Amino acid sequence: MQELIVEIIKLLAIVATPLILLFLVFRREIACIKAYSEDFKCEKCGHCCQFSILLNKQDIQNIISSGHSKEEFLEKKNFLNILKKDKSGFCVFLNKDKTCNIYEARPKTCRKFPYLNYLVFKGCDTRCPAVKRKC
Ligand code: SF4
Ligand code: SF4
Repeated sequence: MQELIVEIIKLLAIVATPLILLFLVFRREIACIKAYSEDFKCEKCGHCCQFSILLNKQDIQNIISSGHSKEEFLEKKNFLNILKKDKSGFCVFLNKDKTCNIYEARPKTCRKFPYLNYLVFKGCDTRCPAVKRKC
């Protein structure tokens, strides 16, 4: 009987260890999936405007078309195109009242935030305080 219990414990350990490791590696993604909400309401706090925003060609073209020069907003980091930040660490287009100066031409990443996709799962980025509060 004792041997059987030991075998069961070993088996449980074999099954549980990879699951625990997976949870530890993907805990942020799991939290984001759990936080998904279709009726998310942005509180316009501007917190997300301090994250690094990657720009694609279309984003750059849209911002230029809205009347801004590349020098004003484009920064190269490790060969990537990033939206520039000001001295306070926020996007150069964030107004003092936390509104976006290029709202109609804002990059795709800004339009999608805080929504995220993980393969077939949908999530909400928990770095957003409004999302975090609902978790
Ligand atoms: S951090 Fe969240 S609540 Fe604040 S502006 Fe961004 S999306 Fe809206
Ligand atoms: S482009 Fe607008 S929404 Fe995007 S980070 Fe800058 S201020 Fe925020």
